[in-house]
Amino acid sequence: MSHHQQLQCQGMNQEKKQHTMSYAPYSCSCGAELPDQVTAELHASEANLCTACFGTTEEEPFPGWRRRCLACAGTGRRGPQLVWELAHVEAESVIPVRVVLALLPGRPFRLSELADLVRERLNLAPGRLPVGPRVRDVLLQLREEGEVELISAPDQLMDDSGAVLYDDPYWVRTVR
Ligand SMILES: [Zn+2]
Ligand SMILES: [Zn+2]
Repeated sequence: MSHHQQLQCQGMNQEKKQHTMSYAPYSCSCGAELPDQVTAELHASEANLCTACFGTTEEEPFPGWRRRCLACAGTGRRGPQLVWELAHVEAESVIPVRVVLALLPGRPFRLSELADLVRERLNLAPGRLPVGPRVRDVLLQLREEGEVELISAPDQLMDDSGAVLYDDPYWVRTVR
């Protein structure tokens, strides 16, 4: 982690707040030409801004529905984004599928409940690893394999294409 803390400090020294970016269309207050997403992401990275939200600290997964940017934990900065990316990779190795499978309750359970069980079993300090997102990914994989089913109705219909939002849904282990 010390390597990345260093990166963050360098970034704070270099950045003199002259880059305020926006998207749709991509632009920056410094006047850089940003014709496409790749150029914009590169520019964000150079300006030490999060390459997902371009420093706006918010993302809009569906038109009209904004939330805190998950990539940079709502900071808008590249340093925390890099640290969080590493934490996601780490969570994949620290939280293996078999551990999640072994902890599945025999009754309907919520995603947050299972994440708590995993945190407890593996003795994970709160807030350091993205346990919830990792457990959700494992559950989606287990659903593909027929091990679990999602039993909650969606909390919100997001758009005409049928995209839906689940807040903290109930899952159940498949009986065989
Ligand atoms: Zn700029
Ligand atoms: Zn961000």
